[in-house]
Amino acid sequence: MLEIIDLVKKYDSGPLALDGVNLKIEAGDIIALIGPSGAGKSTLVRCINRLVEPTSGKIMLNGVDISSLNKKELREARKNIGMIFQEYALVERLSVMENVLSGRLASVSFWQSLRRNFPQKYISEALSLLDRVGLGDYVDTRADQLSGGQRQRVGIARALLQKPDLLLLDEPTASLDPKTARQIMRLVVDLVQEKNISAIINIHEVKLAELFTKRIVGLREGRIVYDEEAAKLDTDA
Ligand code: ADP
Ligand code: ADP
Repeated sequence: MLEIIDLVKKYDSGPLALDGVNLKIEAGDIIALIGPSGAGKSTLVRCINRLVEPTSGKIMLNGVDISSLNKKELREARKNIGMIFQEYALVERLSVMENVLSGRLASVSFWQSLRRNFPQKYISEALSLLDRVGLGDYVDTRADQLSGGQRQRVGIARALLQKPDLLLLDEPTASLDPKTARQIMRLVVDLVQEKNISAIINIHEVKLAELFTKRIVGLREGRIVYDEEAAKLDTDA
């Protein structure tokens, strides 16, 4: 469902951030992307939805080359790609529900003009997702009142409301304490399986990757240095 072919990214300065990455992911796959800081994990994940513009290569999602789309086409294609960030990227002064719904819109100001007659269908779906992620009692709470784990749960609900085929998670647990990090990984892995979507989780804690994902891809200096079933990894390494 996702095939990355010879992906190269060169920023204005520095060496190649991605140096010819090839990666294939089937529907329902969850992969953990690991590697040292600066390896290119974040760049790779962000190239897939073009938050970072690739220098060359192809990103085929369900047969469409994401890297060749114009702005309008890209906006459509991005509905199919959910993104979850390390620092949650919530709008602090909006409620949990508003944050979840705003994921469907191009901008918060657009959302504010629409909020009074937002389609009921999305509100019902958002409520059921908020229940599922354990925030049923926090629908009207402002984002700035939430703990880190709760914030990430909002981020997850917001991403899933789009019904994406692919979920990109850029260090989703890096700002959380170890226990909360494990709870969030468990939730993500369960939801991805429940909804049969694919996920790429950029994560630097190897232990978490091994605990929760079956396939681990290692990146170093912009190149894939291994791609293994987690069980086959040498855990002492
Ligand atoms: P991480 O290691 O979690 O990816 P970084 O601290 O490397 O985070 O990067 C934080 C932000 O700074 C990102 O938005 C990244 O794109 C940007 N950044 C990283 N390295 C450079 C650089 N050499 N020049 C300019 N911006 C950079
Ligand atoms: P990781 O996520 O594995 O820490 P990154 O993708 O953040 O790696 O960074 C890969 C390389 O690209 C690093 O050398 C980093 O400094 C560089 N880089 C990242 N973002 C930028 C940016 N916005 N401008 C310039 N260089 C960047």
